[in-house]
Amino acid sequence: MNKIVLTFAICRLIVKVGLTMELTDVLRLAIDGQLSLDRAEVESASKDFGSMKRTKPLAVLHPASAEDVARIVRAAYGSSRGLTVSARGHGHSINGQAQSKNGVVIEMSRWGRKERESARPRPRVSVQELYVDVWGGELWIQVLRHTLMHGLAPKSWTDYLYLSVGGTLSNAGISGQTFNHGPQISNVHELDVVTGKGELMTCSEEKNSELFYAVLGGLGQFGIITRARIALEPAPQRVKWLRVLYSDFSAFTKDQEFLISLHGHPGPQKFDYVEGFVIVDDSLINNWRSSFCSPLNPIKLSSVNPDGGVLYCLEITKNYDETTADTVDEDIEALLKKLEFIPNLVFKTDVPYVDFLDRVHTSELKLRSQGLWDVPHPWINLFVPKSKISDFDKVVFKRILGKNTSGPILIYPMNKDKWNERSSVVTPDEDVFYVVGLLRSAAVSSSGTGGDETQSVDYLTQQNGQILKYCAEAGIMVKKYLPHYETQEEWMDHYGEKWEQFQKLKKKFDPRRVLATGQRIFINPPLKKKQ
Ligand code: FAD
Repeated sequence: MNKIVLTFAICRLIVKVGLTMELTDVLRLAIDGQLSLDRAEVESASKDFGSMKRTKPLAVLHPASAEDVARIVRAAYGSSRGLTVSARGHGHSINGQAQSKNGVVIEMSRWGRKERESARPRPRVSVQELYVDVWGGELWIQVLRHTLMHGLAPKSWTDYLYLSVGGTLSNAGISGQTFNHGPQISNVHELDVVTGKGELMTCSEEKNSELFYAVLGGLGQFGIITRARIALEPAPQRVKWLRVLYSDFSAFTKDQEFLISLHGHPGPQKFDYVEGFVIVDDSLINNWRSSFCSPLNPIKLSSVNPDGGVLYCLEITKNYDETTADTVDEDIEALLKKLEFIPNLVFKTDVPYVDFLDRVHTSELKLRSQGLWDVPHPWINLFVPKSKISDFDKVVFKRILGKNTSGPILIYPMNKDKWNERSSVVTPDEDVFYVVGLLRSAAVSSSGTGGDETQSVDYLTQQNGQILKYCAEAGIMVKKYLPHYETQEEWMDHYGEKWEQFQKLKKKFDPRRVLATGQRIFINPPLKKKQ
């Protein structure tokens, strides 16, 4: 922007929007990227995948470098009127976590109109040391494409790759490989972080380790990740991808727990990926995450399960290449023999590794074409201790949910020893815990406006509340994954013993509570008290 246009824009905003002097100062900062007040950009930064919450920022920054990020945070740190800064990855949060009221949203993953794509650091692979250095806003799909050029790939994934590195590392980053490699936050060697004071710091297990572990799973509270060094392995070429069905929940979980106990096992006698999902009606057996059962193998629930009860699908994969192509089927058969699924119901496919990793995107394109992607998503993800998963099944899957779940229900176990206790994430206090993800789409935006009420945001949100209420009353010590709460007491409950440390780290790295206010953990003035 040239000087005259910028001055004019500032004057106009001061008059029209009552812009604070702080933002005026921010707009005068020397930024290599682009600081934008464009209405469409502001509008876009006020939305997320959840489509249930909208907060417009004052301005949007498209940074060209970590230094740009630091400049903005320093300005907010020095501001006397509470200017805030939120990093936004790909905006795939559910409850406005990357939004910023009275602040600047830093678009870490999107390029500005005037920004040169070459401005931001490109991924840099070390083939010898098996790592890749990436910009914090890089999407995982891009990380994969770059590392594959060297025959390498990250070890730990999310099911969907159009998420940013900084966004998933601020949560944990989980998928069916977590039992074996740990979450994505367990596969990071080093980070560059801009703290809430605007200092750019490099941190790792050896260097500034307090900041390193605070940021991993830290919900953006302690700093903005501008670079991550991610562990790599030789990329598998192809994947044998299987699904088997169960009607007995205890057989299903016994098998899942057996399979994840094989982690660290040398040799071929284990799967590389273990997930599962719950099927309460036909739409779920052929849903957006399970497209390969159909149309090649379309099946009807009633034919498998005449009683109409709930079914469970175990999803497993085994990677292979030319050296193991002759033996992979044998290894799979040997493992399948140890499982107790419904005989003869084995669905198999064989795909390139990339197609397997990018599976959800294929479904996204289909849903987009049907207008079913940009709808509200009242998702809830819970970590459930192994000792209570069967109680959870009896009440939540079999009673509370009913027949209409409005989306896939994921369930798979993880080994706690693959999670570093020093990270900011909280998990249940048992060696094995399950993630249960209710990935719901609200086809009807609010109840009382016609249409099927059970598919409305209000209905599904209320049902989520019922599930949490049941867990609290039954003493099931669940922890929310991708957490969201309304009161500080709930956050204190969530962090439990870690709360004191979390608060201490906040005071140290973001004392003026500038960062990621959309998470609503530390708000000035304090959050409202629970009734
Ligand atoms: P955003 O939503 O933009 O940001 C999330 C939070 O991180 C915000 O508080 C933001 O301020 C902060 N943040 C963003 N970038 C940075 C940064 N560089 N440094 C510091 N803080 C930052 N999660 C899984 O673990 N496994 C899955 O399989 C999985 N699948 C998903 C599939 C879909 C279709 C969707 C919509 C989400 C899925 N998620 C999954 C959840 C996802 O990991 C989180 O929503 C994550 O926050 C999204 O990343 P994002 O880049 O969109 O982050």
